[in-house]
Amino acid sequence: MTDHTKPAFERPILPTPDGQKKVLLHSCCAPCSGEVMEAMMASGIDFTIYFYNPNIHPQKEYEIRKNENIAFAQKHNIPFVDADYDMDNWFARAKGMEMDPERGRRCTMCFDMRFERTALYAYEHGFPVITSSLGISRWKNMQQINDCGVRAAAKYPGITYWEYNWRKGGGSARMIEISKREQFYQQEYCGCVYSLRDTNAHRRATGRQSIKMGVKFYGVDEEGRPDNSSTEPQT
Ligand code: SF4
Repeated sequence: MTDHTKPAFERPILPTPDGQKKVLLHSCCAPCSGEVMEAMMASGIDFTIYFYNPNIHPQKEYEIRKNENIAFAQKHNIPFVDADYDMDNWFARAKGMEMDPERGRRCTMCFDMRFERTALYAYEHGFPVITSSLGISRWKNMQQINDCGVRAAAKYPGITYWEYNWRKGGGSARMIEISKREQFYQQEYCGCVYSLRDTNAHRRATGRQSIKMGVKFYGVDEEGRPDNSSTEPQT
């Protein structure tokens, strides 16, 4: 039952760099970008989603995550740029870092690669500001992500990386609420084949089953019954 004594959450107007209202949002998935999108819409920001995530493996998982994001963008009439799935390039750049742990060198490369392409697209298509949903998850090192975003934006004149902390002011909790409300697909590993390998190894070591792709959705269990146990996306 709705608690009518609780004041409805009023979203603040977000302070964009130099008050710019046109933003290119790099999105990693629907669960992470849902809160970011709703915050930007409430601030009257004219934004476009840029989906460039060649790290996601296998392609089946990539298509599921991308299509979930497209559906939510269409629901709100937000432009969506479906960028290349140039996984060969991603694997080439990951060479020698296959055994690195999450948050290490391989992840820096992975963020760099995604932001470099985002910044290039912004430069070529008249977006003065770029930002990303990547940092909203507590699984990620926000400083590592921001450093990569700033580095990529610095390559192009007139492009600024917006270092907004999307977790603050209840952003993390709203990310889960929105994901449950929308019953978004719930990915269970960060994205690359190495994170899939390591997550499965951890699950086996702790007596859990390996990841089954395409079966888990926020707010419902595998049989479609209400389930409140969903946690943050590991993206
Ligand atoms: S663990 Fe995640 S961030 Fe790191 S390289 Fe793999 S997909 Fe990229």
